[in-house]
Amino acid sequence: MNGLEAVQLAVHDAGVKTLNYVPGYPITELAEALEARISVNEKVALEIALGASATGMRAMVLVKQMGMNILADPLVISATHTIGSGIVIIAGDDLGPKGSQAEMDSRIFGQLAELPVLDPRNPAALHASILEAYRLSEWLRIPVIVRVTARLLATKSSSIRSMPSKGSGQEFERIGWELTVRGRYQKHRDSITAFAAQASESTTQNCLQVSGNVGIIASGYPAALAEGLGVSTFLVGYAHPLPWMLMRRFIDGHRQILVAEEPGPFIESQLRISPKIKGKLTGHLPFGPLERADIVNALENLDKKQESMPQIYESVAERGYQGICEDCPFSPLFWALASVDVPVAGDAGCAIRAARKPYESVDVVYGLGSSIGVASGFRKKGVAVVGDFALAHSGIQGLINAVWQKRDVVVVVLKNDLAAMTGGQEVPDLTRLLEALVPTCYIQLPASKDEIERLLAAELDKTGTSAIVARGACTKYKIR
Ligand code: SF4
Repeated sequence: MNGLEAVQLAVHDAGVKTLNYVPGYPITELAEALEARISVNEKVALEIALGASATGMRAMVLVKQMGMNILADPLVISATHTIGSGIVIIAGDDLGPKGSQAEMDSRIFGQLAELPVLDPRNPAALHASILEAYRLSEWLRIPVIVRVTARLLATKSSSIRSMPSKGSGQEFERIGWELTVRGRYQKHRDSITAFAAQASESTTQNCLQVSGNVGIIASGYPAALAEGLGVSTFLVGYAHPLPWMLMRRFIDGHRQILVAEEPGPFIESQLRISPKIKGKLTGHLPFGPLERADIVNALENLDKKQESMPQIYESVAERGYQGICEDCPFSPLFWALASVDVPVAGDAGCAIRAARKPYESVDVVYGLGSSIGVASGFRKKGVAVVGDFALAHSGIQGLINAVWQKRDVVVVVLKNDLAAMTGGQEVPDLTRLLEALVPTCYIQLPASKDEIERLLAAELDKTGTSAIVARGACTKYKIR
């Protein structure tokens, strides 16, 4: 059974009633296998889960790492506001990023929101961690995060026994309103985090083996890589809160400790006060995803002081670059955008594929739904290129702000009626809303570059915000 199947079994065993997701690597395939419902953005996905939980239904939210940033607002509030039935957030980290604009470590949201994060090492642990996360979530009335990676979802374990553990159907309790925000926070710090710390110490997901005077502390997939190397191992089940009492004993009992984790030094940075601790910060392990050979090499060189090695930065030529599809109907638009003499803000959809040669159509891309806000800040009138999914995700907020503040922006909406970057998922049609907000014109693609340039020039000549809806049928994904 692989990690994806382990999650499917856990969702069944836990009796999860509501599953919501926002597509993105590496959780799209998992979410679709679970028949989760797509949401316009991660904040909304978590809000739906909070509503389901308040009325007695277990819920799951599946998001990519960048999506954790978007749902952070209700996440932080839910920790002290409390919930009803269990909520588990599956945070998919894209290590050595393949489909993201940044490499992130979702474990850090445990510290930020003061919520538990389970970081399973293999599919069996993933299944058990999700069931434990639901129990913990309902006991403490807080959401719990389970971190996954593409490798964890793809790797296999021996068969996993189904362990049904349905929820009680508990609902939100209004008793919390008797406390102020400060009072709820005091209660959270005083009792909830203490109970979470106990759970971290006592979980069956901790795996301790002692052999010799060198030890490895590991979390997540690197914990599976650290097994069987002939040294002591402490594979932690929780990345937050850490099982401090067990870890202290483990560290005290060894001469040297290597911390194996990915992508960043999340645990190591909390332990680095001890000179015994080696890992990414000491140069013994590389940042980003780890391989077993990295851990073996680090163990062989633990006593050596590591010099920082000159790095070779990964280039586009080395990795390969997925540009615009050859027969893409939006291609003439990208050529036309390349020839306008104004700044162009792109978005994290197919427009980002036109950022590099040969098109060089967009100048900056600061994430999904960002282009209209970014273009609103340009020194002179420019263009914001936004896909229809990015517009629904969060771009619409930038548009409302642009209208409200009378900004000068030409918004070009790439309307192909699907989320092409993440596999062709459905997208809401916002054209009526767009027409209600700003003067809107349409062009059917493919069209000639000259025709598109004339349209862009005419809109750039006007003051205020206006929209061009460029309609085209994506040739890679058909409308479902
Ligand atoms: S996926 Fe579709 S919209 Fe995106 S570049 Fe390819 S053909 Fe164009």
